[in-house]
Amino acid sequence: MNKSLINKKKIEKLVRQILIELGENPDREISFNEETDSIIAKDIQFYSMCEHHMLPFFGKIHIAYVPSGKVFGISKLARLVEKYSRRLQIQERLTKEIADEIMRMGVKGVMVVAEGEHLCMRMRGVKNSGMITTVANRGIVAQTDAREHLLALIYNPRSQAMLKQI
Ligand SMILES: [Zn+2]
Repeated sequence: MNKSLINKKKIEKLVRQILIELGENPDREISFNEETDSIIAKDIQFYSMCEHHMLPFFGKIHIAYVPSGKVFGISKLARLVEKYSRRLQIQERLTKEIADEIMRMGVKGVMVVAEGEHLCMRMRGVKNSGMITTVANRGIVAQTDAREHLLALIYNPRSQAMLKQI
């Protein structure tokens, strides 16, 4: 087939339609910011066990990274989250380990945000909600002021638009 005859836009549209037909939301969780080349994977569920108290902590992990050519699918990132959460853990280390491994996968920079609810804290008293947020920045994300912009993208419910410059 002559490559110049391939209509990429049309294929993209068709693949999108297939995803929708399969019940997927193609705009959910992972999005691509063409201006900054940053990839955001939001709301990856995790379940882990606090190594101090042997009680569950669980919640969501958001990953924003700046690829160096290769782009990772949401399933690969979700597997990575699972790999490090399915063991006795502490949230700070979980966050760091995920960030370090994504760096080793060959990206320019990464931000990992973990929001965890800790039963060990909840059980200690009603005053404490037991919610902890931890952040790990690596590579160019740690070196530049990209952090705040990436956080804004992660917490902006309409970040699909991704118009902010980092
Ligand atoms: Zn604990």
